[in-house]
Amino acid sequence: MRIILLGPPGAGKGTQAKVLAENLRVPVPHVSTGDILRQNVKDSTALGVEAKSFMERGLLVPDELMARMLSERFVKEDVSQGFILDGYPRNLAQAKTLEEIISQRGINIDFVVYLDSSESVIIQRLSGRLVCSKCGANFHIKNLPPKKEGFCDRCGSSLYQRSDDKVETIKKRLEVYKKEVADLIDYYKKQDKLYRLDADGDANVVLNQIIALIK
Ligand code: ADP
Ligand code: ZN
Repeated sequence: MRIILLGPPGAGKGTQAKVLAENLRVPVPHVSTGDILRQNVKDSTALGVEAKSFMERGLLVPDELMARMLSERFVKEDVSQGFILDGYPRNLAQAKTLEEIISQRGINIDFVVYLDSSESVIIQRLSGRLVCSKCGANFHIKNLPPKKEGFCDRCGSSLYQRSDDKVETIKKRLEVYKKEVADLIDYYKKQDKLYRLDADGDANVVLNQIIALIK
């Protein structure tokens, strides 16, 4: 199964992708460009050093850097079983790059799940989001508080707030998203691969809708 999750920041792409990737009949890797970038920033790699200033401002990391990163990821053997791609493509140029990269491996995208969410929900979710420093699990100050304040329910590691989850940066990310998304929606609609779901509701409800779609 080769799936793209598309949608605004805060729609729940990462949350859904993590659960789905582990629970498909044949488990597949969750490829999150945001996670890969954050890991690179943490490790201070050349890519991370270059990407950091864009990420902190809520801007897209340049396409050329992203293309290199993605093709390196798709060299790994694990994606041959399929993948759930989260955070890429974010504009039309990236969609075309993706197509080039995977067609070299003789594969195609099966479908694109467009998780649509309203602005007020997005801001509310992201401004209260807490992320596990080790396993990446997501929590929320109000909606999904961890059992022990400041620590992950799954692995016990400390939780942190992403530096781009400040209201000002969230607004910038949304602005960037809105500017680019129409082209992407068009592109995948034309290929008859786009399925839109309302992602404002409860995460479990959305998950079940995605599973129904896959079936
Ligand atoms: P969100 O979708 O909630 O904004 P991500 O974790 O997917 O969060 O991305 C965080 C940041 O990483 C983005 O704001 C952007 O700077 C960078 N990024 C991630 N994926 C891409 C991409 N495909 N192209 C350019 N920049 C990206
Ligand atoms: Zn954890």
